[in-house]
Amino acid sequence: MAHKFPAPLTQLSEEECLFYSTVRQFAEETIATQVNAMDEQQQYAAGLVDRLFELGLMGIEVPEDLGGAGGSFFDAVLAIEAISTVDPAVAVLVDVHNTLVVNALRRWGTDEQKKLWLPKLASGTVGAYALSEAGSGSDAFALQTQAEACSVNGAAGFRLSGRKLWISNAREAGLFIVFATVDRGAGYKGITAFLVEKGTPGLDVGRKEDKLGIRASSTCELILDGCEVGAECVLGEPGKGYKIAIETLNEGRIGIGAQMLGLAEGAWGHAARYAKQRKQFGKPIAEFQAVQFALAEMATEIEAARLMVYNAARLKDAGRPYVKEAAMAKLFASGVAERVASQCVEIFGGNGFVRDYPAEKYYRDAKVGKIYEGTSNMQLMTIAKQVL
Ligand SMILES: Cc1cc2nc3c(=O)[nH]c(=O)nc-3n(C[C@H](O)[C@H](O)[C@H](O)COP(=O)(O)OP(=O)(O)OC[C@H]3O[C@@H](n4cnc5c(N)ncnc54)[C@H](O)[C@@H]3O)c2cc1C
Repeated sequence: MAHKFPAPLTQLSEEECLFYSTVRQFAEETIATQVNAMDEQQQYAAGLVDRLFELGLMGIEVPEDLGGAGGSFFDAVLAIEAISTVDPAVAVLVDVHNTLVVNALRRWGTDEQKKLWLPKLASGTVGAYALSEAGSGSDAFALQTQAEACSVNGAAGFRLSGRKLWISNAREAGLFIVFATVDRGAGYKGITAFLVEKGTPGLDVGRKEDKLGIRASSTCELILDGCEVGAECVLGEPGKGYKIAIETLNEGRIGIGAQMLGLAEGAWGHAARYAKQRKQFGKPIAEFQAVQFALAEMATEIEAARLMVYNAARLKDAGRPYVKEAAMAKLFASGVAERVASQCVEIFGGNGFVRDYPAEKYYRDAKVGKIYEGTSNMQLMTIAKQVL
């Protein structure tokens, strides 16, 4: 099949190229017309999340026998990149669901947990990942949410109490991975991951944040007020939640790198098209060398970011060490996204500063890349540990 859109060729097999093109085509044809309304209304368009499930984009790595697409981590990265070229706010839903929630379950879930949750996560249940709290962001393991051992319906269980903050997908989610401590005195060795279903008494979604960018994505407080779950809801082992958090976020940040890469590609495409159309001094501004050089620099940075993101994802799929490369890819790609989106605004001139044109939204959306799933300083700390 001929590719309608110029797919990145770097290291892509024919199937991967086709997959990327298909997702990008969906984004261009279905998501693009709704981007502004979703941004203004701060919610996803009706039916959009269902379409993501129908297309298999919410169970990319879920095995086929459990109802998923049986794809690779690299496939998930391609989907996030392709959607982000059009709307990074939609991509974050796909990213958190696939790279954090599905992956944590695939890796640490018991057979029963996998059989129960993976088919649902591939077919209609959105996942959310609840680690951060008001007092614990970069210092994630200082979390205060408590898990107290108790009896639930006559069997062993836990009572969860605390408040989570900044939880992406909270409004859409049917399953939350909640991190809480079973023993505050034990420090990070008390942290435990729990699978908590929406509707469990004592679990509530609180205030939704009014954000600078990725506004369609629901980022909310999560309130746990004596929320009781059975011992079978522990993901991994009690006290081993810190390992789950570290390792899922190591993977997840490749997804954020892909989101920022796609964002930069989308912004670049708009800037290049605009530069060819917009005339000043009697000719398209793309004929001025200063504008050409800006676009050439942006394209070069995007290419470098793509190589880094793809390389980190390939290393992960190959079972080789990738932590340094993942941190570098997120650090670099989020910087590229910010610079490219900023330059895109300038190429649009005054039109870059108003909501009638796409440039300003990419600029707003780019900022979060340096903040979530570990700030840029946290990535530098990881890289420094690895290289020194
Ligand atoms: C839109 C959005 C969505 C999010 N989604 C989720 C989600 O789904 N689940 C979830 O659990 N969390 C989520 N988060 C939370 C996110 O991961 C945190 O915001 C992030 O880890 C930073 O924590 P903080 O906001 O508390 O900043 P802080 O940790 O307070 O950092 C503030 C500043 O201090 C710097 N800093 C802190 N410590 C150090 C240090 N030791 N050395 C050098 N500099 C340091 C940081 O780099 C940063 O510049 C989301 C956040 C946002 C904005």
